[in-house]
Amino acid sequence: MIKIEINLAVALYLGISIIILLIWIVFEYRKDKRVKEKNYNNLWQCPICFHIYIDSRAETISRCPKCNTLHRREEKM
Ligand SMILES: [Zn+2]
Repeated sequence: MIKIEINLAVALYLGISIIILLIWIVFEYRKDKRVKEKNYNNLWQCPICFHIYIDSRAETISRCPKCNTLHRREEKM
């Protein structure tokens, strides 16, 4: 068995815990940012009635749920 002082053992334990926690926070932050960007791309604004809605299925052409007109994506919102 390896003999180490209790101070060193506690310090190592806390240090490793903090490092794992920091890595976890960074990964969660990145994931959250990706999800937000994805939702942002699903956001559409109708050029006729200016209604803003989310359509995740449409890529280039979407139908407005309010005035029921088809329109093409002009530029990123
Ligand atoms: Zn509309």
